[in-house]
Amino acid sequence: MKCATCRKPLGTSDRRVKYCSEFCKANKPAPKRKLRAVGADERPVDPEAMVPDPDQDPHTEPRTLTVDDAAREGTDLEFLMAIRDRLADAVADETCPPRELAALTRRLEENRKQINAEKARLREEGEDDEHADDERWDADAV
Ligand SMILES: [Zn+2]
Repeated sequence: MKCATCRKPLGTSDRRVKYCSEFCKANKPAPKRKLRAVGADERPVDPEAMVPDPDQDPHTEPRTLTVDDAAREGTDLEFLMAIRDRLADAVADETCPPRELAALTRRLEENRKQINAEKARLREEGEDDEHADDERWDADAV
């Protein structure tokens, strides 16, 4: 065991002893993130997924993809979301003709229901493998 602050050997195997002196105890280093257990809802973060979306389920973290990328390599949810973004853009376009706008809006409503259904399905799946995450400890924490 070494002092948590200055790394000086403590000369004891008592795990409760973490510091060589009161000074080091008072000046302990800021806790490192990796020294604690990984939470069930923590996943490696894909920078492309860092788009704030209050509807987003933290367990699935769908990426924001273009429609063609999503069609090629996205999950069902990512594909639906890419379609949604594309439809929303078209609906928001002021030059969109009214007749097309009505059709697009219906497609968008349909798409929204599909997204909600897919999210609900993924949430159920996520609840099943939450157990595995509970046992995922960083080796350094032990
Ligand atoms: Zn020390």
